[in-house]
Amino acid sequence: MDYQKIEGGFFLKLNRGEKLIQRLKEFAKTMSIRSGIVSGIGVVRNARLGYYHLDRKKYAEKEIVEERELVSLSGNISWLGEEPIVHCHVTLGGPDFQAICGHLFEAEIGITGELCLLNFSSRLERAWDESTGLNLQKLDDGS
Ligand code: ZN
Repeated sequence: MDYQKIEGGFFLKLNRGEKLIQRLKEFAKTMSIRSGIVSGIGVVRNARLGYYHLDRKKYAEKEIVEERELVSLSGNISWLGEEPIVHCHVTLGGPDFQAICGHLFEAEIGITGELCLLNFSSRLERAWDESTGLNLQKLDDGS
């Protein structure tokens, strides 16, 4: 992954074969990103997508092995204890021009990944939420 510092964040260029979520987590740790938002486009393969069934408190998973246009990636970076949490959703496009979308567990970069990360000085935390079975954002209103 290559990066360029910009005002308020970074341009990130992920290269073929790199794992998108893993690399973002590593970058968040290395650069001590306290919170951020991520957006991007590019090409991915071996994408593992999820859809959360609240009634079962479980993700249904689908793997898209073939290369797909990363039409849109949008997400955020927060922390659960000492671990950065990179929470991203994606829309992928295929040769039939149909879209498939969902929560992104992981994907490998295909041709390239062109991402932008905007980071903030406030630390964004997550905490376990029993009612949903998820680690939800725990916002601090400053009071
Ligand atoms: Zn999600």
